[in-house]
Amino acid sequence: MTIRRIVADSRLNDLTLAEKAAAHFGLPVERLTKDELLAELLPLPPEELFPAAKATLFFTEKKGPFLTACRCPSGADYRCCGYFTIQSVSGCPYDCSYCILQHLIGNNPFISVFVNRESVETEIRTYLESHRHLRVGTGELADSLALDDLLDESGFFTAMIARNGWEERISFEFKTKSAMVDNLIAAKGRHPAADLVIGLSVNIDRFHATDERHTAPMADRIAAAVRFQQAGGRVALHFDPIVMRDEFLGDYRALCDRLLTALDPKKIAWISMGGLRHSLSLTALMRRRWPASELTLCEMFPSADDHKLRILAPVRARFYRAIAGTIQKYIPEPPLYLCMEKEFMWERVKLDAPSFTR
Ligand code: SF4
Repeated sequence: MTIRRIVADSRLNDLTLAEKAAAHFGLPVERLTKDELLAELLPLPPEELFPAAKATLFFTEKKGPFLTACRCPSGADYRCCGYFTIQSVSGCPYDCSYCILQHLIGNNPFISVFVNRESVETEIRTYLESHRHLRVGTGELADSLALDDLLDESGFFTAMIARNGWEERISFEFKTKSAMVDNLIAAKGRHPAADLVIGLSVNIDRFHATDERHTAPMADRIAAAVRFQQAGGRVALHFDPIVMRDEFLGDYRALCDRLLTALDPKKIAWISMGGLRHSLSLTALMRRRWPASELTLCEMFPSADDHKLRILAPVRARFYRAIAGTIQKYIPEPPLYLCMEKEFMWERVKLDAPSFTR
């Protein structure tokens, strides 16, 4: 991962984060409006636009709310897991073949860093006035830890939790494909009562080189998660996207064994499973940008509600049951849930919604 440009919105007064990032990479801070930056980048051909989008940090202010409910598509009977997200960064220096952010690059070909992140404190306070617990994370439109060396989001959000006495009321997840946990371990050391969770995105090794450019190899992610557990933190596991071809099922079982022998099963916060799914337009983009990827070789069918392509339901159920069964060797009642699946699939896999609190 290499950042090649640091741009601060011309309207921005607080340049603290931008200057820190610029010093880290030995780059100048450029001052441009968003429109000026777009006018420079959008005419680039795709083979230059994508690398530029992954290497440009744009520091600006967010206009709308930071805290939003992670919504399943409306009108369909997806079972919602009640997760909330904080969008403090939008964009990612990593590059995954199946990543939905590839669609956004056509409109926002850079990584936006929202410097007014402290306003989320008021939003969380308002939410907690009428709710007992908040399960939240920063990894919806970004990798939570990919830029943590620069932005120290782990330290920032942990200090906010401690300052407000929210340790028992918030489970804060940092979802990642990185192995950069030093700041998070330090934050846990300063505030041991905070419920900090690394959300480790996991998959079988064969996809790392072909489909998850610039991310840490699985062995490094697991080692980082082990270190975090040893420092007192909890780890969540996200099996997503599960590539459900019969020849990979043994590899997914082996991955469960590998994870749950390395990690302490008692310090697993939650585990999600999500099958490979993507829109038709993303399929075309994947074929063009990722010719070596095996992910577009799966037999997939459109769903009626969200028009995403999915692997057939009986195959998905078989994979989910097999993975759940392997996990149950280590955790008899695992805190398992399905991502973007309907009621009928929860019933077929025989899963109930888990409790997410400590
Ligand atoms: S790490 Fe996550 S956010 Fe970043 S490119 Fe991969 S899927 Fe997208």
